[in-house]
Amino acid sequence: MLRVVQNVVEFHGTFASYSCLDCYKIFRSSDVKLDIIPPLCGECGGVLKPNCIFFGESINPMVLQRTKEMIASCKVMLIAGSSLVVAPSSLIPFEAKSNDAKVIEINTEPTGITSSITDIFIKEKAGAAINKIIDIINKI
Ligand SMILES: [Zn+2]
Repeated sequence: MLRVVQNVVEFHGTFASYSCLDCYKIFRSSDVKLDIIPPLCGECGGVLKPNCIFFGESINPMVLQRTKEMIASCKVMLIAGSSLVVAPSSLIPFEAKSNDAKVIEINTEPTGITSSITDIFIKEKAGAAINKIIDIINKI
């Protein structure tokens, strides 16, 4: 039986919630009306922004720190469905490898790390490959 581990860092944030740029109140996405763009805060009328990182924005320092902590103890890094071209997330596999982690990459095409630090390359769509992995684990 697959053991569910919920220790997730949303490195690039999430579309599951929005924040008001003026009063900082947080709203669930399901509560945000998108009939007016940009969506507006029901409390103060300020602009609501999804809690994800847009190009040019910095990664939340607390998220970056937690990611570094997780990399330090990582034994196996699974990379699935990423072109690995945008830093700093593209640097994460290198940090894991420098800490002796094994790198497993699932992508439809090789990336810049495939021939250098990837230990196992699975040429397949991420969702299909992960479902197969889950099936195998469930049989163990
Ligand atoms: Zn507001």
